Amino acid sequence: MIKRFIVFSLLGLLVYACAKVAVTGRQQLSLVSNAEIIPMANQQYDSVVKTANLSKNQQQVAMVKSVGSRIQRAVEQYMAEHNASSELQGFQWEYNLIEDPKTVNAWCMPGGKVAFYTGIMPICKDEAGVAVVMGHEVAHAVANHARERMSQGLVANGLLGTLGAALGQNPTLTKELFFQAVGVGAQVGMLKFSRQHESEADKIGLIFMAMAGYDPHEAPRFWERMQSQGDGAAPPEWLSTHPSHSSRIKDLNEAIPEAMKYYKK
Ligand SMILES: [Zn+2]
Repeated sequence: MIKRFIVFSLLGLLVYACAKVAVTGRQQLSLVSNAEIIPMANQQYDSVVKTANLSKNQQQVAMVKSVGSRIQRAVEQYMAEHNASSELQGFQWEYNLIEDPKTVNAWCMPGGKVAFYTGIMPICKDEAGVAVVMGHEVAHAVANHARERMSQGLVANGLLGTLGAALGQNPTLTKELFFQAVGVGAQVGMLKFSRQHESEADKIGLIFMAMAGYDPHEAPRFWERMQSQGDGAAPPEWLSTHPSHSSRIKDLNEAIPEAMKYYKK
């Protein structure tokens, strides 16, 4: 009897606990809600931006903000067309460029708040290059990769059976898993996504950039520039081993025909 109860509970949890990733349709584990995650993300973002030295390069700042708005509109359009606008509930988009020439990085918090570091701008080179990075980072957020990591963290903590805790009624644990998933303080955006999340963000980002009016062929070009730069300056998210730049470039080239269907449509 107890065994049967446990089986039913687990089945119920698994049905409840699955979400579908936008664009790819992959099923992912989802034991926490964006309503819980986004306020923590916004708070974390505000503390980073408040203490950061924001770029005074008006031209680059304007470029990051305008590319961000175009990608945002593409995401909103895509979700509306696929009857999934509710997935964006609670998103409060924001784009900032942080003055830090040594940091070759950018990230997007769950809920749409984006930070670029000036160190990535020379590799972006131009607006289309910014769109490659913006599309990729926003894709991590839209695909709820941090939420999936937190959910996997709950399972790893052996809480699959402890429904109360697993469904977010344990704020301390939820917060801890959030920090594990996105980083804390100076470590925000410095964590490695899994190879699966990277490939998925590449693929989804390509479609968002195409819908925003940027040629997807710029994505492999961006990664070629990153490759010629070497690993010295790159934080984990961009290290060549993860996945290697060449396998990334190959996968992007294979995904371009699909993305081109969305380009200048
Ligand atoms: Zn990534």
